Amino acid sequence: MNVLVVNCGSSSLKYQLINMSDESVIAKGLVERIGIEGSVLKHEIPGMDKVVIEKTMPDHKVAIGLVLDALVDGNHGAIKDMKEISAVGHRVVHAGEKFSDSVVINDEVIEALEECIELAPLHNPANLMGIAACKELMIDTPMVAVFDTAFHQTMPKASYIYPLPYELYEKYGVRKYGFHGTSHRYVSQRAAEFVGEKLEDLKIITCHLGNGASLAAIKDGKCIDTSMGFTPLEGLVMGTRCGDIDPAIVTFVMEKENLDLAGMNNLMNKKSGVLGISGVSSDFRDIEDAAKEGNERATLAIEAFNHRVKKYIGSYAAEMGGADVIIFTAGLGENSISNREEICKGLEFMGAKLDVEKNNVRGKDAIVSTDDSKVKILVIPTNEELMIAKDTQALLK
Ligand code: AMP
Repeated sequence: MNVLVVNCGSSSLKYQLINMSDESVIAKGLVERIGIEGSVLKHEIPGMDKVVIEKTMPDHKVAIGLVLDALVDGNHGAIKDMKEISAVGHRVVHAGEKFSDSVVINDEVIEALEECIELAPLHNPANLMGIAACKELMIDTPMVAVFDTAFHQTMPKASYIYPLPYELYEKYGVRKYGFHGTSHRYVSQRAAEFVGEKLEDLKIITCHLGNGASLAAIKDGKCIDTSMGFTPLEGLVMGTRCGDIDPAIVTFVMEKENLDLAGMNNLMNKKSGVLGISGVSSDFRDIEDAAKEGNERATLAIEAFNHRVKKYIGSYAAEMGGADVIIFTAGLGENSISNREEICKGLEFMGAKLDVEKNNVRGKDAIVSTDDSKVKILVIPTNEELMIAKDTQALLK
């Protein structure tokens, strides 16, 4: 069974065609600038040169059409016929409280997701456009939606309710939802497999540290808390997002800087985080280079980032009554040896001892704690596309 995994943004589209018999990627690619001048499709078959197709793509339907053409192309295609695509798995950001698992897409599901647009105005419309385009071009192919929020739906109410007037939850659904759920779910399952234990028997803290970053506390296989909230702005210090701040800063800065709602929203989402503190970049590699050259604000940005990850690890260990496993994943979690080292410094009190030698690893499954560490510290590369494909296969079996 081949599953096409589709991840639509407002002007972009990422895809992977996965052969589920061995979980290998047959083809993958990225479309950028959909609806904007200069749209381009970069299509890749593992082991072959990347194909770049520059063509006007006014909307997602045209973009998906070109992706399907590329997949069956005589020269750079991966399959002979569209019939070789058994199903499509769509990444969808927000399912509100409507879905706590992946679902087969039908008209009712689409209606429910349209009702969630208010909660994710930047993401859900793009995801829905992708679904509509695929449905038009692949009429008989079954489709599944896999949600970023679903995994966190098991959080107890005390974790997800905000201390605001309760009516705001009832009227508008103002509560913690959490994001990156597909990644937290994938790495926690993979970690259990890797250490040869049952997921249900473990207390796990997953650290998804990328440009967007979040932690989750997973007990008995279920998420009980996560650091992102009503939106992906809450929680850790991120590339450009501020994460947790005193809410009173919002009105104070708006008044002082004469900012309107959109301006303040932009400041907190696009100009803050390690970019805001360092003034250098949102990319950790640039910040690390600047820190090495003596830039004090770059050093401060790294320290502030690590400090908050450590703080959340401690609070999640307290919530779960300890931890058996800490997992590092995503761009920074998988690759930054120094960040992992700094974050784990001082966690010995809870039984987590990093092995500096073993920690000298990037981008592959590895145990990086000492042999006598009570808590296993792991690096597990995330694979959201594979998780989406697996859910799609499981639901259509
Ligand atoms: P992601 O959003 O998961 O793609 O992660 C992006 C972040 O990971 C960026 O801040 C990158 O600088 C960081 N990153 C990727 N590779 C490395 C590396 N080798 N060392 C340090 N940071 C890295």
